[in-house]
Amino acid sequence: MTSTALPTTDELRTRARAALGTIGADVPEGDDLPARSPLTGENLFGLTAATDADTEDAVTAARTAFLAWRVTPAPRRGELVRRLGELLREHKSDLADLVTIEAGKIRSEALGEIQEMIDVCDFAVGLSRQLYGRTIASERPGHRLAETWHPLGVVAVISAFNFPAAVWSWNTAIALVCGDTVIWKPSELTPLTSLACDHLLARAAAETGAPRAVHRLLLGDRTVGEKLVDDARVALVSATGSTRMGREVGPRVAARFGRSLLELGGNNAAIVAPSADLDLAVPAIVFAAAGTAGQRCTTLRRLIVHRDIADTLIERLTAAYTRLPIGNPFDDTTLVGPLISTSALDAMHSALTRVQAQGGKILAGGNRRLATAAPAAAYTEPVLVRVDEQTDVVREETFAPILYVLTYDTLDEAITLHNDVPQGLSSSIFTRDQQEAEIFLSAAGSDCGIANVNIGTSGAEIGGAFGGEKDTGGGRESGSDAWKSYMRPATNTINYSSELPLAQGISFL
Ligand code: NAD
Repeated sequence: MTSTALPTTDELRTRARAALGTIGADVPEGDDLPARSPLTGENLFGLTAATDADTEDAVTAARTAFLAWRVTPAPRRGELVRRLGELLREHKSDLADLVTIEAGKIRSEALGEIQEMIDVCDFAVGLSRQLYGRTIASERPGHRLAETWHPLGVVAVISAFNFPAAVWSWNTAIALVCGDTVIWKPSELTPLTSLACDHLLARAAAETGAPRAVHRLLLGDRTVGEKLVDDARVALVSATGSTRMGREVGPRVAARFGRSLLELGGNNAAIVAPSADLDLAVPAIVFAAAGTAGQRCTTLRRLIVHRDIADTLIERLTAAYTRLPIGNPFDDTTLVGPLISTSALDAMHSALTRVQAQGGKILAGGNRRLATAAPAAAYTEPVLVRVDEQTDVVREETFAPILYVLTYDTLDEAITLHNDVPQGLSSSIFTRDQQEAEIFLSAAGSDCGIANVNIGTSGAEIGGAFGGEKDTGGGRESGSDAWKSYMRPATNTINYSSELPLAQGISFL
């Protein structure tokens, strides 16, 4: 199905200006960075990118602001984030408009992304009255041993196009209450959303008396990110994007003994066991695989189905895939918006050509849509592909809505297939057998950072730590104790006796 006609680029430009205007954000017009919409594939505005001098200035200002911010009491730092959360609530619809215009998300997913930002602000405000250290039993009489958490420094946040606002907020809300200052290098594909977020944070800072330089935005491509990666004054580089990017960023930050937090690609799978409730599994699978047009890091890319139910499940999925409304993401009936670019569509077609040469069979979908209405855009039917084995193309992350379907006979075999990919982000099992579910969640089960039961691989809540293992980079963001990545622990030994006993019973003098 194709939903209503697409908006024109002029209409999108007007809508983007209206959203930015309501928020109050200035657009630094120029001609070195285009702001573009995947809805039509055309440019909306030309923008000015950050120069080397801007980057230098941002790091210097962020470092100076850090010296004041780190000694501001954490609950007062939380006031800034509380105000940001209020402004996000007020401008939820405007921000969601920008997310749809720049990332192509359907309306309810764009609103969901802004809700996630509000949720993480609430979480961070609570955290601002916690940031607990521990008291540890000392082996020496009259001594106290304690662990204290201190602010870390300047944090560079490098983010991807597919969560143009939420990933920034996961990092920034937590980093700010932890006493760090933040420099944000967003994706070059989503500059307008970042201008809006930066403006709201600047407003929150002005209204709560926080230094403006607790946050700086640097628009531009990877070269701007590289400057931050190599700057020894940047204590933590939190980088979200492809595994290719992480392979470049990780070693460069490590070479200067900086810290990095890497959130990279996934190749997420779900196991569907014979006892699975298919009425629950089918919509969960379709949302996880086709939602956001397959452009979530947690998108379901591999389905590992028990042989006895494979035909039934494939039949139901095929029927669901042929009914998916594809097109204008502003239309409430649309479920699948555009891919980010025609090069993403080319990558999808290339993966499909390769998998077919390796024996894969297309079961449903895969055709381009709206090519006449919007030749520069990339609308496509999500595609379901049956494969007999996990070939090299299946083991890669293709950032598009391709779901590979494999079959298994024993749970051991399913878990081996599941873990036999380089990435380790999200995973799930659909089963009503408690023993199977527990095995999947155990140390011998899924090797991912996220492991779910009877729910898809995508759509995490902010309360848990988010991230994954292996080529996914090992970082954890958002909830649980992910805040510890944004602080440095200090161990304190306090002697309140009049003696000087040495540890390990050593005598000296
Ligand atoms: P990308 O790697 O092309 O770009 C991500 C960001 O990194 C951009 O801001 C880009 O300018 C910057 N960048 C690229 N190379 C760099 C370098 N050498 N030094 C410094 N900065 C550099 O990714 P993308 O296409 O925007 O996003 C899609 C990818 O992101 C997918 O692989 C997806 O799985 C991943 N992703 C992961 C998570 C997660 O939490 N694990 C979340 C969202 C997206």
